[in-house]
Amino acid sequence: MKRLARCALLMLLTLLPLSALHAEDRLRVVATTTQAADLARVIGGARIALTALMSGGVDPHLYKPTESDIAAMNAAQLVIYSGLNLEGQFETVFEALGQRMVRVYALSEPVLQAGFILEETVGVPDPHFWFDPRNWMLAAQGLAEVLAELDAAHADFYRANATAYVAQLETLYDWARAAMTDPAIPEAKRILVTSHDAFRYFGDAFGWTVRGIQGISTVAEASVSAIQEVADLVVREGIEVIFVESSVSPATVQAVIAAAQARGATVRTGIRELYSDAMGAPDEFGGTYVEMIVHNVVTILQSFGYAVPPLPESLALDLPETFQAR
Ligand SMILES: [Zn+2]
Repeated sequence: MKRLARCALLMLLTLLPLSALHAEDRLRVVATTTQAADLARVIGGARIALTALMSGGVDPHLYKPTESDIAAMNAAQLVIYSGLNLEGQFETVFEALGQRMVRVYALSEPVLQAGFILEETVGVPDPHFWFDPRNWMLAAQGLAEVLAELDAAHADFYRANATAYVAQLETLYDWARAAMTDPAIPEAKRILVTSHDAFRYFGDAFGWTVRGIQGISTVAEASVSAIQEVADLVVREGIEVIFVESSVSPATVQAVIAAAQARGATVRTGIRELYSDAMGAPDEFGGTYVEMIVHNVVTILQSFGYAVPPLPESLALDLPETFQAR
């Protein structure tokens, strides 16, 4: 079955016109997730012609490439994706592209090589590596090197963009770490409960314990026992807020809240959804990686009623009115 699907795909790829290949001198880049597309914009700037496949709110665990996605990847020089099986439905397409000599690059690759990938269980990597900004710095540098290789005439441009961005990510990391570990937040209360296990790197980076109702993938539905276990945790630890993720159905979070409330707990959802596997739309706050991290940190702090420290001016962000520190 898998081989048949691959054959059909290869035929489709072979039939697609190659006339678009020399249409312009910018590198033709395709990015799968919203995070990958944002990084491509930051590092590639005007030197690349970018096609972003997934939009805000789309779950990459479940997303299946469309025919137009496949056509765009077929005409690309570089396809960048997150990797570690996040884009589980792309495997066959990537294999076919590899045979057509399209460069396919996983942003997680340098993070994996550096040994910073967490495992859910032995041998099963947790794909949500971007949530530690220090990992995203490695991804930025890795992408700059790939672009420099494919477009050697502008290698300095890509590397300079990566260097400037890494400095911005360092500022972001320092701010978020200080905000999330403020002494006003009791250590025992630093528990983040969300729809699925996307926040372990985030928790590692910023000193919080995390618990997802579903595991590291949204492919399997949350079991009744998983909902009961998280409800137990909420009751036992007195957790007052749990969070819906923008790319995951709120049903499981609501089920946990109902189960915990039935046992007398006072628990509510966060004042906004968190961005996890998808960022916001480009025109909303949370539409870039940096904004996504700030959005999540501010949303978590405000939802629990903690103060939000001022943002470093060098990040040059305009917080929406509702995000302002109290
Ligand atoms: Zn996920």
